[in-house]
Amino acid sequence: MSQYPHLFQPLDLGFTQLKNRIMMGSMHVGLEDRPWHFGEMAEYFAERARGGVGLMVTGGFSPNRRGDLLPFGSKLISGWQVPFHRKVTDAVHAAAPDSKILLQILHAGRYGYTPLNVAPSAIQAPINPFKPKELSARDIEKTIDDYVRCAKLAKRARYDGVEIMGSEGYFICQMINLRTNQRDDEWGGSYENRIRFPLEVVRRIRAAVGEDFILMFRLSMLDLVDGGSDSAEVLQLAKALEEAGVTLINTGIGWHEARVPTIVTSVPRAAFADVTAQVKAAVNIPVIASNRINMPDTAEAIVSQGKADMVSMARPLLADPDWANKAQAGRADEINTCIACNQACLDHTFENKRASCLVNPRAGHETKLLYTPTSKPKKVAVVGAGPAGLACATVAAQRGHKVTLFEARSEIGGQFNYASKIPGKEEFRETIRYFLKMIEVHNIDLRLNTMIDGQRLKQEGFDEVIIASGVAPRVPDMPGVDHPKVVTYQDVLDKGMALGEKVAVMGAGGIGFDMCEYLTHEGESITLNTSAWMDEWGVDGSNQNRGGLKPMEIEKSPRKVYLLQRKGNGFGKTLNKTTGWVHRAVVKMKGVETIGGVSYDKVDDEGLHITITKGKGADAVTEQRVLDVDHVVLCAGQVSVNKLHQQLEQDMGKTFKLHLVGGAEFAGELDAKRAIKLASELAASL
Ligand code: FAD
Ligand code: NAP
Ligand code: SF4
Repeated sequence: MSQYPHLFQPLDLGFTQLKNRIMMGSMHVGLEDRPWHFGEMAEYFAERARGGVGLMVTGGFSPNRRGDLLPFGSKLISGWQVPFHRKVTDAVHAAAPDSKILLQILHAGRYGYTPLNVAPSAIQAPINPFKPKELSARDIEKTIDDYVRCAKLAKRARYDGVEIMGSEGYFICQMINLRTNQRDDEWGGSYENRIRFPLEVVRRIRAAVGEDFILMFRLSMLDLVDGGSDSAEVLQLAKALEEAGVTLINTGIGWHEARVPTIVTSVPRAAFADVTAQVKAAVNIPVIASNRINMPDTAEAIVSQGKADMVSMARPLLADPDWANKAQAGRADEINTCIACNQACLDHTFENKRASCLVNPRAGHETKLLYTPTSKPKKVAVVGAGPAGLACATVAAQRGHKVTLFEARSEIGGQFNYASKIPGKEEFRETIRYFLKMIEVHNIDLRLNTMIDGQRLKQEGFDEVIIASGVAPRVPDMPGVDHPKVVTYQDVLDKGMALGEKVAVMGAGGIGFDMCEYLTHEGESITLNTSAWMDEWGVDGSNQNRGGLKPMEIEKSPRKVYLLQRKGNGFGKTLNKTTGWVHRAVVKMKGVETIGGVSYDKVDDEGLHITITKGKGADAVTEQRVLDVDHVVLCAGQVSVNKLHQQLEQDMGKTFKLHLVGGAEFAGELDAKRAIKLASELAASL
């Protein structure tokens, strides 16, 4: 019997059946907008169908031009597009006849990043520079027709159904909510009038496509914006959607303009499953839970406890297309877990680039980055078991090379070990667990506690040597840098060094911000305690308060922290697009004092002496300050650890082919996304 019996029980929808309770939720991956990318999109979905998922949803397609998310964005509005979509649906059904795929219909409304966007009322979104035009009543009728046309085209394209996007603050949310709908016609005013639009869309689609077509509605169960719906309204709408002909209800949490994070790594796993459970208790159709579900234990618990009938995981299926097969076969420890970093998926989408995955660079590139078995197995040495070395060793061994992985320390993971000690980044440990398992599965010869030098590599007769020795903290040239008050982020995170009550963090990049999280939290990470996390971020999970919001209860920082940078302003500007705002919010919530325009004069027993420059040129004003701190933590960037490479090049001649990868190659702006991608590409080419 499966270790996850509830997850792998089929779900009967009456006219059809889903083979399990696992859905890959909708993600815009950047292949949807141009017809010539549909071949690649077909393989992207087919790979996941082969991986055992029961149901998948495409990225959003607008039902008309005014609903575009971006200029010339993805839409399904005409018969000529049908053959392109059939490439996708046929590939999925050929790969796994019992796997199903739905097209998502998404009208962006005022979130459309185009000057042509439209909305129920002409109220601009706080996250969009383009003010929408108000739709007339006639336009609204026409928009419903467009939804129906889109669903009919989806049926012709052999999709198994459609998902109507009614959450995350898009057009349907804007119709439902007073915050965005201030109309005084039959589409505005009372709640009944405001939910008329989604109900009409569902009724008319159902009438047009017949009974044997899956109609899923993504319902905003917790808006997380001021004046959002409350629980009574959400349940009223859920029941009305059931009556109108919906087959399945999927969960949506939070509008894009919400001040509460809903999917980043610091959100507890399954944080919102209890919100879904309220809807499940109110309706008789299956309900799907979503957000921060990434491993089978969590998914099984949600279904077995009756909180939902299915689970939706979007990013976890980017990270590992074989997620479902591995879980079903009792090999959950082989799952390449999504760490919810957003770095290669959502960040890319928001930067208008193709989505991929930090831990799986093949995602979105299934037809190009191939790990084909080698016909000429080689003896490969990888030096350093950080993310770069681990990815390189795993891919090379998976392809059939004989790999030896040398690591100077007693554990694998490199800098990811430090990352995983930051409160809210516990998920990073999963990547280390995954690679440890891959070392076993692919018979990699792991040699811990082995600091490599050139002589040793020569003796063992390797064909290829990959130096992945990574990075070390940069120690700036400053008087007093060797004072006992001065420590590196590595000293703190690796050795668990106790720090005083007043600490200055030098450098406000990703690691500086992470260090602030570390220094301003005490005790159990709130990411591991959903109710504490809800209290801190002011989330009312019962949704009795409108929008599911309540006052934030912020735990006081155990120490005074200063965050310093040499740049004059723009704290946290280099942080990632979709997660940086959360880090900036935490630093503010915890009372960290940020000081820009700093030059570091010296450190002595008094503390850190700095000069602060405000303004530029002739208007510049300087001020000298002594920060009376117990410790100064260096987070001032990193330098490569590649002395070995130079030594090998000088000493060894050409007895083997030498490669540099990850931080060892180039430390500037290095992150794990680049380290893993370049290492995987190198291993694919050996
Ligand atoms: P490293 O991780 O430095 O690994 C190199 C390995 O080589 C080490 O294990 C080292 O012991 C070993 N080694 C060195 N010399 C030798 C030798 N001669 N013989 C044998 N072994 C040797 N990145 C992100 O993308 N997202 C994040 O959110 C993120 N958060 C971070 C948070 C913190 C606190 C820190 C410190 C880093 C974070 N990073 C993050 C950065 C990320 O961890 C690094 O970019 C990544 O680890 C670099 O990988 P690497 O394999 O090149 O080097
Ligand atoms: P970083 O982002 O480059 O930041 C380094 C900081 O140190 C900057 O704020 C810089 O600002 C300062 N600095 C640089 N040289 C200095 C010097 N000589 N003296 C004093 N200050 C100096 O690097 P990082 O914080 O070390 O992070 C390393 C990599 O890990 C980054 O590329 C990042 O992407 C990744 N990472 C990502 C995350 C994430 O959440 N995605 C988290 C952590 C790390 P000034 O020059 O203005 O002083
Ligand atoms: Fe998950 Fe990060 Fe990969 Fe996105 S990039 S799928 S968040 S691991």
